Amino acid sequence: MTADPMIVSRHLSGPTSSTAVLDAYTESVMNTFGTPKRVFVRGEGCYLWDAEGRRYLDLLSGLAVNALGHAHPTVLSAVTGQIATLGHVSNFFATPPQVALAERLSRMTGGSEARVFFTNSGTEANEAAFKITRMTGRSKIISTQGAFHGRSMGALALTHNEKYRIPFEPLPGEVIFVPYGDAAALASAVDPTVAAVVLEPIQGENGVVVPPEGYLAKAREICDQHGALLWMDEVQTGMGRCGSWLVHVDEGITADIVTVAKGLGNGFPIGACMATGPTSRLLGPGSHGSTFGGNAVAAIAGLAVIAVIERDGLLDHATALADHLATAINGLGHRLITGVRGRGLLQAVLLADPIAAAVVDTALAAGFVINAPRPDLLRLAPPLIISSAELDSFIGVLPSLLDQVAEATQ
Ligand SMILES: *Cc1c(COP(=O)(O)O)cnc(C)c1O
Repeated sequence: MTADPMIVSRHLSGPTSSTAVLDAYTESVMNTFGTPKRVFVRGEGCYLWDAEGRRYLDLLSGLAVNALGHAHPTVLSAVTGQIATLGHVSNFFATPPQVALAERLSRMTGGSEARVFFTNSGTEANEAAFKITRMTGRSKIISTQGAFHGRSMGALALTHNEKYRIPFEPLPGEVIFVPYGDAAALASAVDPTVAAVVLEPIQGENGVVVPPEGYLAKAREICDQHGALLWMDEVQTGMGRCGSWLVHVDEGITADIVTVAKGLGNGFPIGACMATGPTSRLLGPGSHGSTFGGNAVAAIAGLAVIAVIERDGLLDHATALADHLATAINGLGHRLITGVRGRGLLQAVLLADPIAAAVVDTALAAGFVINAPRPDLLRLAPPLIISSAELDSFIGVLPSLLDQVAEATQ
């Protein structure tokens, strides 16, 4: 068969300006995300271009996803090579990329006998994890205040934000929310009726909240005392984002269940639920499934991401840039900046006033993509391939962005 790209691009030949695309968006896409702030048409490295040809430095990476930036040549050749060879076959069959990625991810957990269930997103990885916890014969789950684990009915039950949760109740599970980072509160909530404790090693959506040192190790101890599973949600923090493959493993802990997604496929949809030890055998034939999960193309994307991060030393690079970023931002001495927190290239700039949303818009107008998970902080999650010069180009204009917003809101 011969390629006929025209029959596809014909569907795109309608609106070309951003306004025209956004008008069509409003009429054709459900309004769950509000109005998109820009229409992007191209990406390369750490940069994006909008429909009018304006260039933006991407300091968000599609929400902590594009670890290798846009159009990375190695990901591109792996994905196109795989789709030209073998795309999708269903989970009635195995493919070499799927098994190779499963082995690689299993090793990352640091646990013995680790096994993987592949999904297409972080939410689905958490759904798989939720089902694993039910196989213990216990049903109570301890989650944390401020936690975000996804938007499906199961993952939503573990997500703390009432605005997301209340309209959709009843949700499954007996879920108890304890204060995040508080080991004593966790200790008093866990007893032999608890199936699992689910924790993000750093709370991403809640504003890059870093727990006190030793919190994860304490959580491991508490779970062991009561026979509860420790489930680490590394969907945002894992796969190199924080300067290690998995934050909790870097801290010397082995979890019973680990979920990853965002950074794994560099934008190709893939997630994974890993389990270690006997927990990796709790789901048996017929107990869970997925049509697309572990698709050969998604799996090769994951393998390409891991290979490039390793070859280019991007874990150490992320850690080095984190120090550089904190020093440079603190060094600005700006009256509206109260601090920087985070790990690797998942960082928050803390603001003295609740002006983050306006700063995001002002930054966008100046050619920088950042994000505000909360009114009083900015989240930075640039591609791991970003250079210190590229980071500096943002840090250099940050004071003027803040001043502009402060003046406008006087
Ligand atoms: C983003 C996120 C999820 C949900 O992942 P999706 O791919 O959006 O389904 C779950 N947990 C954490 C910690 C996240 O940051």
